[in-house]
Amino acid sequence: EKLKQGLDKTRKEMTDKIDGILNSYSKIDDELFEGLEEILVTADVGIKTTMEIIDKLKERVREENIKDPEEIKYLLKDEIKRIMTQSGGENELKIDPSPAVILVVGVNGVGKTTTIGKLAYNLKMQGRKIIIAAGDTFRAAAIEQLEEWGKKAGVDIVAHSEGADPAAVIFDGIQASKARKGDVLICDTAGRLHNKKNLMNELNKIFRVVEREYPEAQKEVLLVLDATTGQNAISQAKVFNEVCDITGIALTKLDGTAKGGVVIALQSELNLPVKLVGVGENIEDLQPFNVDDFVEAIFG
Ligand code: GDP
Repeated sequence: EKLKQGLDKTRKEMTDKIDGILNSYSKIDDELFEGLEEILVTADVGIKTTMEIIDKLKERVREENIKDPEEIKYLLKDEIKRIMTQSGGENELKIDPSPAVILVVGVNGVGKTTTIGKLAYNLKMQGRKIIIAAGDTFRAAAIEQLEEWGKKAGVDIVAHSEGADPAAVIFDGIQASKARKGDVLICDTAGRLHNKKNLMNELNKIFRVVEREYPEAQKEVLLVLDATTGQNAISQAKVFNEVCDITGIALTKLDGTAKGGVVIALQSELNLPVKLVGVGENIEDLQPFNVDDFVEAIFG
């Protein structure tokens, strides 16, 4: 339900327009497909994915001898599901069996701190022992904000002062997690994209610490992206994916945008599974993501 509400704007923008266009045509022709194409591109599905979907629709209309524009809607739903499931990989967070480490990466302002707080709360509510490591030591405000979220979520947080070595914070986080029998260690990291080389070095150093100190832990590298930035989120994903091996996406602010189609592009173009979606500012407003629920929420 929360997911459905979070996708209200996307549904209005995308599905209502699709319904509108399908209702206004009495037969299926190129103009109808052009109209659909425009709607998908506007919803940030991305040119490449949109073309793939439209081509497949045309093919099926021809092969299955479909005449009624209304039927396109079911084909479209089907194709979006197909394209999202055949790529993108597993949508579930890989945290079982414990212990697990989730490294959270992303640029400032995308909702990284908020997502860590919500995720910590969420996992704690499922009965897991959670520890947060405040690895974004670049900004004092980031550490303070994270401490506030830790309080709200009722989970322990390991932090050093501003300017400390992020890898040292993660090291301490790992020791704390081991000592306190933590199930999931959630690690914040600084995301300064303008210096790719630095970012790469910093993340690699952190990865090495995790590999060395916590080999038994499952690892997730979660990239936080802001859905309201649409195609910009896609570019950020591309850059981060060059710098490190992203295993999943947390897409925030889905509630504030009609560009929810970006989920489809992330999965199909970049092969990155969306694992979590943010649908509001409150601590409960983080949802696990799965393709069926998403497609039903958009078209249902
Ligand atoms: P950071 O700089 O990446 O750590 O970003 P913050 O976590 O501080 O979030 C930036 C702003 O985005 C804050 O005002 C958050 O309340 C807001 N925000 C984060 N996630 C969501 C979401 O899913 N929905 C909405 N509406 N706002 C969000």
